Amino acid sequence: MNLQKYARQTSLKEIGMEGQKKLLEKAILIIGLGGTGSAAAELFSRLGVKKLIMIDRDKIENTNIHRQILYNYNDIGKFKAETAANKVKEINPDIEIEFYNDTFDSSKINLIEKADLVYDGTDNMTTRFIINDACNKFNTPWVFTSANEVYGEAKGIIPGKTSCYACYNNKPENIPSCAVTGVINTLPVNISSFAVNIGMKIMLGENIDGDLYFIDVYNISIHSIKINRNPGCRSCSKGEYDYLTMYYSNMGKSILS
Ligand SMILES: [Zn+2]
Repeated sequence: MNLQKYARQTSLKEIGMEGQKKLLEKAILIIGLGGTGSAAAELFSRLGVKKLIMIDRDKIENTNIHRQILYNYNDIGKFKAETAANKVKEINPDIEIEFYNDTFDSSKINLIEKADLVYDGTDNMTTRFIINDACNKFNTPWVFTSANEVYGEAKGIIPGKTSCYACYNNKPENIPSCAVTGVINTLPVNISSFAVNIGMKIMLGENIDGDLYFIDVYNISIHSIKINRNPGCRSCSKGEYDYLTMYYSNMGKSILS
């Protein structure tokens, strides 16, 4: 493959030709193609990877357009995953694409098995616990993101190396979605840019700290807290994958909001 189109990043000491070749061997699964997920799909496709697998059951609504930068007004009513797949093909035709207009739940963890990195673009804790258990089971690194109001969170997770999502969260809680809280339109792009950078470092084989980062884009602040591995963690320490059971295999609107 001609790597000339990646010249501005292969000339970086952080990536180089060797790094670019590593990236071009990676398959990435993006779960949730909303604010942060759709921006991540664009960034990963421009970065240059082997394959993007994308899953989201939702259709594009007019209230999405102010912040979900991959979509336009004429996309309203179309499936997000399918629309994202079409846009990404236009951005970088060399990337293999797989998409599912469907809910991600414990019946879809084969998608995680196929991925080298998972990007969490979801908006609820239950799905994140499923992702976390599956990533620990298959030893797949992932990046957690969330974005509400004017602040968001991001954390890289490498099974066996960093703390995992269940190390510091006990059980799913009902967190108000951005449909309730509102969300400023600069936030998802900021968070996804930060999180894709963490994912890039993981794919390049670099160590990450596994800290939980908080970004407030309106008040312009970023801080982090250290999250150590929890030796009592049911998922990453004991290998008890509570969220991969059948109970979480048919998640409809009643569970996911
Ligand atoms: Zn853990």
